[in-house]
Amino acid sequence: MAKEKPETPRNKVSLASAKAVPIFLSLLVAYASYVVVGPFSIDYLINNEDPEKRNISAGIALPIVWFVLLIPVATSYARLLYVVSKDPGYIPFGGDEAAGAPPPDFWMRDVFVCTPQGLPIWCHHCRNWKPDRAHHNRDTGRCTKKQDHFCPWVGGVVGERSMKFFAQFLCYSFTLSTYLMILMAYYVHKDRSHVQWIVALSLGGFFVFFTLGMVINTMRMIFHNATTIEEAGSRTILMAVVLPPELQGDAIGRPSPIYSPPTSRSGNSDSEQPFVSEIDDPSHSSYFSKGGSRGWPLRRLARSKAWKGTVTYPLPNNLPTDRPPIPAPEPRTFAILETWPGMNPWDLGSTYLNFTAVFGTKLHHWLLPIRHSPCCEHSSAVSLYPLGPQFEEMLEEVGMVQREFRNAQDPGKPRDKSNRKRRPRLGEGWQNGERPDGWISEKEARRVRNQARARMRIDDDFVP
Ligand SMILES: [Zn+2]
Repeated sequence: MAKEKPETPRNKVSLASAKAVPIFLSLLVAYASYVVVGPFSIDYLINNEDPEKRNISAGIALPIVWFVLLIPVATSYARLLYVVSKDPGYIPFGGDEAAGAPPPDFWMRDVFVCTPQGLPIWCHHCRNWKPDRAHHNRDTGRCTKKQDHFCPWVGGVVGERSMKFFAQFLCYSFTLSTYLMILMAYYVHKDRSHVQWIVALSLGGFFVFFTLGMVINTMRMIFHNATTIEEAGSRTILMAVVLPPELQGDAIGRPSPIYSPPTSRSGNSDSEQPFVSEIDDPSHSSYFSKGGSRGWPLRRLARSKAWKGTVTYPLPNNLPTDRPPIPAPEPRTFAILETWPGMNPWDLGSTYLNFTAVFGTKLHHWLLPIRHSPCCEHSSAVSLYPLGPQFEEMLEEVGMVQREFRNAQDPGKPRDKSNRKRRPRLGEGWQNGERPDGWISEKEARRVRNQARARMRIDDDFVP
């Protein structure tokens, strides 16, 4: 059972804002609706004694447009508040009783965000392992998947499950505010004697500029498949990337000796770098030149700046004892790679692809605040979120994939350096959750996963 979330003063402020802000916004909208319907439409346009100013059709049509624009604002806000209060993408709390339970299957995927030791990242507050792109938020006291920011306007976290509704709410609010501002500006210009119109005009004007800034910032994040947290500073990310079969050893389940963890060789139990294998030892560079004949530019592997080491699962039993052990069924060795500053491995390389990852591909998904984002779906065996061309460039840089040229079809033709446009050879594969050429076949991977699951189930049965 998960622990209840601990109450702190910060939590209480957040909870209070979660309740107060929707009421405050509703009052503002109610007031604007009153001005549009009452003093403006009924009193001025419909019941005006001056036949020059009276305009019954406008008096009916203009409030109708207001309410038509208000409907999507209200529904997207209600949907947003519901998702944010229920689950914007929370990571469950791991209690002490979670010890022994298997964590999410990090190393059964091919790529995951890791620590310098190649472990998944541990949240001390939630006492659980953080999936890729999850971050802890002090206001809610929770880790949220693909967390963007804590939003006081919704009293919660804008994350994986709430980002789309947040963006919809902003866009619809911007439209509504713009309508109010233009409408009031036009009639205030005609007749300045109505104070309520001027109040509604300033209200509309304020929200036009406020929501416009938010819309621009939020859509920029969506178009780049980034989050405010990931964009902050020029931070780098460590990623564990499974080595291709050539580097894994002869067969799955039988790792090549050089990739075994150091604990398995000659009693060396250096706890500072327990998971870095001999691949990082420069004296082993001769090994790489031997491997070069197999088609992989292995020489480059350990020389790249991005290369930080390797980690092989199952891990040796020298983990810190204050966290649950990580059971791992089949040995799999991962390279630990560091992204370069400012790199976004999840940027799918096109604005449209990044947009559809949040909004989906259908027009009604874009408009209606009903369906969750496609990026909430995590069934891919490759990584939690699809990876893009910048990730592939990193693999190229360390030599784990080979660069292909557009004119590579004709081997006799000398390569034109001016035309070194890289074909996105792996892009489709990584994005669709398939492995690129040279990686473990889908069938093999499924067999390994099924074996692992079966073994975990057996292990669970023996837990007293
Ligand atoms: Zn946390």
